Amino acid sequence: MFDHYLKSVMDTVIDGLLIIDAEGSIEAFNPAAERIFGYSQADVLGKNVKMLMPEPYHAGHDGYLSNYLATGEKKIIGIGRFVSGRRRDGTVFPMELGVNEMCIVGARRFVGTIRDVSEWEEAERRAREEAAHTKAIMNTVLAGVITIDQKGIIQTFNPAASRIFGYELEEVLGLNVKILMPEPYHGGHDGFLLNYMHGGAAKVIGLGREVHARRKDGSLFPIELGVNEMHVVGKRLFVGTVRDITQRKNAEAAIADYIAALSHSNQELDDFAYIASHDLKEPLRGLSNNAMFLREDFGDVLGAAGGKRLARIAYLCGRMDRLVNDLLYFARLGRQELAIRKTDLNDVIADIALTLESTLEEANAKIIVAEPLPVIVCDTTRITEVFRNLVSNAIKYNDKAEKRIEIGCGVAERGRIYHVRDNGIGIDREFHQDVFRIFKRLNEEDDKVKGTGVGLTFVKKIIERHGGEIWIESEPGHGSTFFFSLNSLQEA
Ligand code: ADP
Repeated sequence: MFDHYLKSVMDTVIDGLLIIDAEGSIEAFNPAAERIFGYSQADVLGKNVKMLMPEPYHAGHDGYLSNYLATGEKKIIGIGRFVSGRRRDGTVFPMELGVNEMCIVGARRFVGTIRDVSEWEEAERRAREEAAHTKAIMNTVLAGVITIDQKGIIQTFNPAASRIFGYELEEVLGLNVKILMPEPYHGGHDGFLLNYMHGGAAKVIGLGREVHARRKDGSLFPIELGVNEMHVVGKRLFVGTVRDITQRKNAEAAIADYIAALSHSNQELDDFAYIASHDLKEPLRGLSNNAMFLREDFGDVLGAAGGKRLARIAYLCGRMDRLVNDLLYFARLGRQELAIRKTDLNDVIADIALTLESTLEEANAKIIVAEPLPVIVCDTTRITEVFRNLVSNAIKYNDKAEKRIEIGCGVAERGRIYHVRDNGIGIDREFHQDVFRIFKRLNEEDDKVKGTGVGLTFVKKIIERHGGEIWIESEPGHGSTFFFSLNSLQEA
């Protein structure tokens, strides 16, 4: 009965069990041992146990056993050790071995328990590798990485953090993270953490923010801070990533200064153009008047040739006056505040259709608005001017018998994009920018088409004053489409 009981224990235990006699011959070998070593009981019974051992245990075992029997000196017996085993197929594996001595009917026997720890060792190796990997990442990332516990005490501080803050790892480990913060964060941090730990709202955790930090030398600098909470072996920790954004902030400040200087000099240019053109009008009027007086008072003396010259002067004065007026108007566009209000663009187009009614009829041109246009916030008069200019150009630069002018609005990633499309003569790609230059005309030799080359310059200026952009898609002979955005001011 007891034998049966023992046998079933031997058969069911998870660990390998084997019994050897004083010479090392295997007397018992349970199923778990069979599984671990790949030998069947029949293969090993009566054989020396060293067959299950790789070198150096294999060669040393006989000597070890006889030495123990002679001197009682124990190396494994009663202690347990990690050693290597050898499977039937020759492979060597790590195992935990426990050996105890027993005495059965006067004869000494040794019982060994064996546990294959390959998997456990593999898991440990992986854990070691992972730790090394994590450490390598922490050592090489450009961002400073700092972990703190619930009380704000620094647990880890990577080399980038050292570089950023000027502290060595040993100097900060165990200190409160607030040493890296200037006021008011310094004074508030403990309270903030405490509040957060008791369910308060997160201010930085999980969000990321731009804040100021303090270096070891006391200097302050801007950082981008990201904080996340993590749980490591039951402990609640916070990991912060820190990026020194001094350079970016400096660059942003430089750009802001540059923009301010640029808009100042733009303003000065507009002022200059306004004053200069205003002042030019006075002598111009004098010139024109004097030419008129000359013709009235001395017309007969000057004769037909002289009269022709005077007429030419009067014509040029008139032309100069128009140019100066355009310049004056252009400068005014840059100087005057926009009169912003809610504007229904459908009304704007209806108004243009009405003003240009006879021109449209004469040219056999049609304005087509497929979808209703939105109601937006803008300077109504100026935006009407934009559409009127684009529509009259679409009529002017069009050689088709039936002229089509399509007006529409689409929504793109950057906001609403308006367009005015015609089936006219088109514009060569190389002039797509030129047409917006003041007094620039592409078809000057074509006398049928009257213009001064300022319409699109005004259009561009008005659009830019509304925070938008204008661009063209066009090929000669295939019509033109003028696209524009009005950005920030367009939502009603
Ligand atoms: P203007 O019409 O007084 O010449 P604009 O500034 O309105 O001045 O236009 C500049 C030039 O751009 C025009 O002279 C013309 O050559 C070209 N242009 C403008 N709109 C169109 C269009 N819809 N199709 C073809 N060419 C155009």
